[in-house]
Amino acid sequence: MRTGDEGEIRVEVDVEGIDRTLDHLKPRRIGVAAPDGLLSAAKGLYHHLKSRGYEVVLLLDPTYGICDLQDIAVEELGLDVAINLGHHARRSLAKRTILVNAEYIISPERLGKLARITAVQLRELGLRRTGVYTINNYRSSLRCFLRKLAAEGVSVVEYGPPSPISPIEGWQVIGCNFEHPWRVRDDVEGYVFLGGGSFHAIGIRLSTGRRTLVADPELLQVRDVEGEAVDIERRAMAAIYKARNAQRMGIVTGLKSGQRFLKLARALARSLEISGKDIMMIALTEISSARLNLLHDLEALIVLACPRAPFDVTDVHMPVLSYPQAVALMRVLRGEDVGRVFNIPVWAWIGYGRERS
Ligand code: SF4
Repeated sequence: MRTGDEGEIRVEVDVEGIDRTLDHLKPRRIGVAAPDGLLSAAKGLYHHLKSRGYEVVLLLDPTYGICDLQDIAVEELGLDVAINLGHHARRSLAKRTILVNAEYIISPERLGKLARITAVQLRELGLRRTGVYTINNYRSSLRCFLRKLAAEGVSVVEYGPPSPISPIEGWQVIGCNFEHPWRVRDDVEGYVFLGGGSFHAIGIRLSTGRRTLVADPELLQVRDVEGEAVDIERRAMAAIYKARNAQRMGIVTGLKSGQRFLKLARALARSLEISGKDIMMIALTEISSARLNLLHDLEALIVLACPRAPFDVTDVHMPVLSYPQAVALMRVLRGEDVGRVFNIPVWAWIGYGRERS
């Protein structure tokens, strides 16, 4: 993590909270999983749990989100429970995976400097009223960042209460769910995403249609994602029109815990077959260009797993569509206008075991 005059950024895990939970559950065998960026924290937790007498297994497969939990690994390895470090949901999405937040702790000085740069950029773009959102790992930094923005004269829209069925908090976004920024889109002129990378900010921009900046506490930089978002939208649109002319298509359902949409895949296959397409049903755990390029004989793919996957697999020999693009494709095939593609609040229905058959 970065250090400097503004102080370092470190990761904090509530180890005492984990110990209390485990004292209550009394497991003997525990799995520990974490996204790649939090692997050192996961290894620290591994050693801590081992020193407390548990049998521990580090579950090293990638875990990308709350759709990707470890109940099956727990069952197959004969563990009692798994700890998924770094992801957070408002309610439990798995029976035997415990979500434990890992927080990036950032000094007020660093957040103050970031707020100053953000305020300047918002003024330059003429964005007076903004929505500010983040991921769970910046939850405590968000409070301080909002105070610093207010001190810089930035007007921020308040968070409403999350709907009872929402898996995420009112201030939170995840890669496929922008329901909270989307809800206030008519009250704001733009958004700020507190965090690293462009991934979530581009999602907010595409979902709401409003200008979005990334305020990156690690790089101490503020970036406008407009160019990247427009480019993704243009490529997504081109893929829809290319898929319209495809004859042999594949529909990929994910195999991760919250990405199994076989019923949805069947319904989509029926609709596409009515439109004259030949459909192959496919299931896959890790969606990668290398795996998708094995499907030489297909001319287009719809991926129902993570809706971000088609953004990442750029060197596949055929168009790869996400679920929102597939819905737009159906409209085009019926002779309707392509309509809104990503300008919707939720891009996938995630949740452990939401769809079982
Ligand atoms: S479906 Fe994709 S974007 Fe949504 S939580 Fe899972 S990994 Fe993240």
